[in-house]
Amino acid sequence: MKDCVFCKIIKGQLPAKKIFEDENFLAFNDISPKANTHILVIPKKHISKISDCQDSDQNLIGGLILTAKKIAAKKNIKGYKLLFNVDKEGGQVVFHIHLHLLAGKKINLEQC
Ligand code: 5GP
Ligand code: ZN
Repeated sequence: MKDCVFCKIIKGQLPAKKIFEDENFLAFNDISPKANTHILVIPKKHISKISDCQDSDQNLIGGLILTAKKIAAKKNIKGYKLLFNVDKEGGQVVFHIHLHLLAGKKINLEQC
């Protein structure tokens, strides 16, 4: 989507510290980390929010979680939090689905 910040990161039109990439998913460091480790995992397909997902997006949503799991394992992170903010009222600011992977002692969920 044209004006989407995360679509621009996918296309390389905006910089990001990439952690992982494959055909369907991209993960990069959050620009304003709320924990020692704060990684965003996104699908390359633009979907604005979890509440817009269809049954046909089941693999995409499962893939997001499994991608986060693989990143944590590769970084030897044993315990972590996975978080979706859903819609404005749920604290969502960027309207391209993203899974927050948060780890470390200083997790500030109030700001997530
Ligand atoms: P939300 O509140 O929508 O769930 O979270 C959006 C997250 O994206 C925030 O934690 C924010 O810091 C992060 N973010 C917003 N713009 C950018 C950007 O241009 N680059 C990166 N790496 N992270 C961003
Ligand atoms: Zn997008």
